[in-house]
Amino acid sequence: MSIRQLPEDLINRIAAGEVVERPASVVKELVENSIDAGARRIAVTTANGGMDLIRIVDDGRGMDRDDLLLSVERHATSKLSADDLDDIRTLGFRGEALASIGSVARLAVASRPEGAESGLALVVDNGRRSGPLPQAMNRGTAIEVRELFAQVPARRKFLKSARAEAAAITDVVRRLAMANPEIHFILEGTDRSAANWPGVSGDGALAARLGQVMGGDFVDNAVTLAAARHGVVVAGMAGLPTYTRANSLSQFYFVNGRSVRDKVLVGAVRAAYADYVFRDRFPVVALYLAVDPAEVDVNVHPAKAELRFRDPGAVRGAVIRAIGTALAAAGFKASSSVAD
Ligand code: ADP
Ligand code: MG
Repeated sequence: MSIRQLPEDLINRIAAGEVVERPASVVKELVENSIDAGARRIAVTTANGGMDLIRIVDDGRGMDRDDLLLSVERHATSKLSADDLDDIRTLGFRGEALASIGSVARLAVASRPEGAESGLALVVDNGRRSGPLPQAMNRGTAIEVRELFAQVPARRKFLKSARAEAAAITDVVRRLAMANPEIHFILEGTDRSAANWPGVSGDGALAARLGQVMGGDFVDNAVTLAAARHGVVVAGMAGLPTYTRANSLSQFYFVNGRSVRDKVLVGAVRAAYADYVFRDRFPVVALYLAVDPAEVDVNVHPAKAELRFRDPGAVRGAVIRAIGTALAAAGFKASSSVAD
């Protein structure tokens, strides 16, 4: 017989290659879990660019014993029912992050739900589980990932310097903070980029968060976007044409609360500024789109940074219109009127 079923831990390791590419992808998966768990405060600590340690502590709803045991199993998720792949509202939904991480690192998951007398902790060390055992802790979940890829040399070899990995972690946390102004984010241990951004709420919440993360300078030199068209709601802030950068690293795009990279959005911003900004300059933008979840496919890539719009033309039009209107109100008049 030459065809055989792969053992479970090998399947997990193969999947891990897709879900956990580098320390920053681990941070992204874990912080997204904390957000999905309703956390108001999320603290991220890393050492050596996340390669030695990633610790995430949240004050979310936590897990009871059964959920804790299930959480590290592959394709176990509390977030997706059989028929709603078209209606994804939580950040996670594949149920493979924790199982994958546990197959390529030493993963410790401790959790305490409301009303429990203590927490429970279990460990998955490169695929081998132990626990759960009681652990004293506050309500919420604390996750530690140690020695990522230590037993997967092929993968470890592809990691960049600790500094580059730390920068990627900072970028991930920054985007998640921008998408969730009401949550208090704390980032420690990455070089130069420690952050402490208390949650903000109410009317000016988004501007306040953008000020924390991108700097008050941006907020002072930007217009606020507020427009809706063909079911596409555009919010956020767009920098004045006089406030540009030499690259696109200061352009941030969010769709339904998720940071995304998408050519349609980049192209729309470029078009919106075409009359004011030289082609080698890039406006600074933090663009937030809300669309019907059925209008966007987020299941394109395991890391979920990419997406596909069902009607890219409508999205493009809405973005160009929103920015054009806001810039016009600030005194920047397009020479060619924006097409409908
Ligand atoms: P997914 O997020 O796709 O469901 P994960 O492997 O990331 O898959 O997590 C598996 C499950 O573990 C989640 O569905 C959730 O029920 C639980 N879980 C993970 N992290 C947390 C957390 N920080 N707080 C509460 N529950 C969590
Ligand atoms: Mg998840």
